Amino acid sequence: MPTTTSAAPATAAGFGRFFLPGPTEVHPDVLAAQTRPMIGHRGKGMEELLGRLQPGLQALFRTRRPVYLGACSATGFMEGAIRNCAGRRVLALVNGAFSERFFRIARANGIEADALAVEWGQAHDPALVAEALARKPYDAVTVVHSETSTGVLNPVRELAEVCHSAGDVLLLVDSVTGVAGTPVEPDAWGLDLVLTGSQKALALPPGLALGVLQPPALARAERTVNRGVYFDFLEYEAAAQKHSTVNTPAISLLYALEAQLARIAAEGVEARWARHRAMAERTWAWVEEMRARGAVAGVLAPPGFRSPTVTCISLAGDRTGPAVAAAMKARGFVIGAGYGKLKDPTFRIGHMGDHTVAGLEVLLDALTEVLQ
Ligand SMILES: *Cc1c(COP(=O)(O)O)cnc(C)c1O
Repeated sequence: MPTTTSAAPATAAGFGRFFLPGPTEVHPDVLAAQTRPMIGHRGKGMEELLGRLQPGLQALFRTRRPVYLGACSATGFMEGAIRNCAGRRVLALVNGAFSERFFRIARANGIEADALAVEWGQAHDPALVAEALARKPYDAVTVVHSETSTGVLNPVRELAEVCHSAGDVLLLVDSVTGVAGTPVEPDAWGLDLVLTGSQKALALPPGLALGVLQPPALARAERTVNRGVYFDFLEYEAAAQKHSTVNTPAISLLYALEAQLARIAAEGVEARWARHRAMAERTWAWVEEMRARGAVAGVLAPPGFRSPTVTCISLAGDRTGPAVAAAMKARGFVIGAGYGKLKDPTFRIGHMGDHTVAGLEVLLDALTEVLQ
């Protein structure tokens, strides 16, 4: 039996059959890095490790700001983004399950929040966001860069311009399936806060959140009283400045991160983006072939707004997403069914992390057989 979700062989030969849109497949060398022994987190060893991680993280995030590391899943930093930077009123851009989650987190933290929703599968139009910001004053806008539930890529660069033209409005960006798979430029594009998690395009095991705050976001945090404790980003900032951590870090995951940053540096960040782009384009072309044969209805996201890391494919006929995923599982491959309300009518391929176009071809051949 080839690699499945359980008992994946820790050899490179077993790699390349796990295409879930998170968690993603982790390279055996990165998995192996986690077996190093523990070190004390208040000692020189940890300070040196964190110091070694920062340059690679800053290259990956294209920033001169420190990159915060949290021992939590990405949702933790979504909550942190709200608690530190939301101000009094938030406009939540909703076009899928994860952007809906950002909206719910704002409300659950007692922030006044309005949702600007477009249909699942559509991207947000900066002009409509500008209109919403002109109608009512907001302190922050939340957006999901790459909506993993629909495969839509939102135009975060243009959205940042719209926010900043409206005054002191921060753009809080969930780029959980963006960072390390598609261009994200926090400094150059003025993205006030960008967060991600370890288990998506970074291709690490789950459990680490990573984030960058620009000076306006830090200034907002300074003016915010109830930041809570665990996600107080001013504490993160102070710790990052001296290469220390607020609480006990996920030490084994930091070892994995160090190994993965070395692999990313060897490939090059831009080459990594290009590889994702090539995998996405191959997937979209394959969907067109399948559509011509009547097997699928097409890629859910419109051209120009498709994520390079995840493709959500609408099915034709009465096949369901879970049935396609199960048929692939029987062939030794893992893909995603649809997510949330798209569970049945769609399925998703996570072509992100350390996969290659050649590995993707093998998956698509099996999928072609399943769909025929
Ligand atoms: C996976 C994902 C999350 C949630 O991440 P967790 O690590 O499970 O908390 C949030 N946003 C997006 C876009 C995601 O893909």
